[in-house]
Amino acid sequence: MSEIRLILGDQLNEHHSWFSTTPDQDDAVYVMMEIRSETDYARHHIQKIIGFFLAMRHFAERLEAQGRKVHYLRLHDPRNRQSFTANLTWLVQYHQATALAYQLPDEYRLDTELSQLSSVLQIPVRVADTEHFLSEREAVQRLFAGKKTYLMETFYRNMRRRYGLLMEEDRSTPLTGQWNYDQDNRQSLPPTVDIPPVLHFEKNVSELYEEIQRAGIKTIGRLEHSTKFDWPTTRAEHLQLLQHFIRHRLHAFGTYQDAMSSRHYLLFHSQLSFGLNTKMLHPLEVIGAAVSSWREHPAVISFAQVEGFVRQIAGWREFMRGVYWAQMPAYADTNYFDHQAPLPEFYWTGQTKMHCLSNAIGQSLDSAYAHHIQRLMITGNFALLLGVRPDYVDQWYLGVYMDAIEWVELTNTRGMSQYADGGLLATKPYVSSGNYIHKMSDYCSQCPYNPKEKTGSQACPFNSLYWDFMHRHRHLLAKNPRIGMVYKNWDRMDELQRQAVLQRAAWIKENVNNL
Ligand code: FAD
Ligand code: SF4
Repeated sequence: MSEIRLILGDQLNEHHSWFSTTPDQDDAVYVMMEIRSETDYARHHIQKIIGFFLAMRHFAERLEAQGRKVHYLRLHDPRNRQSFTANLTWLVQYHQATALAYQLPDEYRLDTELSQLSSVLQIPVRVADTEHFLSEREAVQRLFAGKKTYLMETFYRNMRRRYGLLMEEDRSTPLTGQWNYDQDNRQSLPPTVDIPPVLHFEKNVSELYEEIQRAGIKTIGRLEHSTKFDWPTTRAEHLQLLQHFIRHRLHAFGTYQDAMSSRHYLLFHSQLSFGLNTKMLHPLEVIGAAVSSWREHPAVISFAQVEGFVRQIAGWREFMRGVYWAQMPAYADTNYFDHQAPLPEFYWTGQTKMHCLSNAIGQSLDSAYAHHIQRLMITGNFALLLGVRPDYVDQWYLGVYMDAIEWVELTNTRGMSQYADGGLLATKPYVSSGNYIHKMSDYCSQCPYNPKEKTGSQACPFNSLYWDFMHRHRHLLAKNPRIGMVYKNWDRMDELQRQAVLQRAAWIKENVNNL
């Protein structure tokens, strides 16, 4: 009996129990494929396609080097039918397989496709866990059964207890007595703070780049030079990146987590999401490395930094996955505000005079990376204020970032950023005027617009759009206790001033591509 085991591009987990048998006792054929159904379901960043294919090729080579049987279908293989089902159909015949196994996919679309394989292939199909996540698919649904809103903090505390993360020995009391240090983690970056060095992985990907071009795959974003692809694509490289983050960035991770600066794209973030989402890294090893480092160097790395980091991975990341499985497929169609505007053209080019947007978008197109607050409070904030249809916002986020896989992209975009679910997971929409951006970044000092003005040709576009958004959606938002004050301020404004603000917002919406 021989079994085909399918490995998807985001299932590069070397420590999966599939590989616990010695290669000479392992009869399985491991199948991996580069297919058009994956490159074309969104318009991806060129670096994202290169990164996934390269990581998959390295992974396959490693299995082969161990002596395991691997059937890897490259993009241009003449036998490649370019979809999972079509390829598996002939591969089962070719290898005379009597069974097929796959690991639980993280995306709804693939879950649906693969769950139909047993009827298509007419052989037993076995589903294995990915052995990656710290919580079950149903964890959020179970925890919040019957509730109208999901609170990340409740989920996070459960995870801390369950895994004894930063807990006293009894696993019920948090170390230091305080669960969450979010309030301490909101500083802007002073110009005197030095930004740590970045670890480079510059690789020559000319051959793969040429293959992608030859296939005519439509991509977005830029690759400065095909000999300088700068992402880690093996587990060993991701472990290096993890160590580099811990040594150079963790000590200020929490403090400057919300800061933005044109001085540098990464600041004190880890850039580990690609390694985590492709499962080259396990969340517990990442958390464990950070916690150990804090224990060894408490004078350098404060508790608030490490708690902030653990919260992102054991809290937000797992929570978003749980929300995805609790809400799909309906979540992908949510549009609470009934927004319908198109995405401004400059999201695809970065060409706008608004410096915060040109910086965050330009950097995303150059490196397939932006940190959380750039995604939430610059690009996401502007799209929400403008009233862009969430489908278009989703397509952009799903394509542009190296770490974008639907389970984590959709929940962050629809839920956290666009409030398209009407407040299932965010207690209020993440919108702000230019004031917040001015406070948290150095962008405004390099911008022709003035963050302090609401009207007039130099006024920061975020300002009038912010009031316009609040005014437009008053019937949906006025009762929210976290927003009530905003309407008091709006009502206190002089009527002529209010009209001028709304007129400026209308002009901005008309002329958004020329700002
Ligand atoms: P760090 O700031 O160093 O954080 C450490 C780790 O925590 C990250 O690697 C990530 O695994 C995890 N994390 C932090 N915040 C979140 C979060 N909100 N949700 C899930 N995990 C989190 N993250 C993705 O992995 N893929 C996406 O497609 C994605 N799309 C997003 C879209 C929008 C609109 C927003 C607001 C956020 C999105 N995020 C997404 C979450 C977050 O922005 C990225 O995980 C983070 O910027 C990745 O960079 P980093 O590794 O340097 O993170
Ligand atoms: Fe952005 Fe407004 Fe500041 Fe310009 S002034 S950088 S548009 S927030």
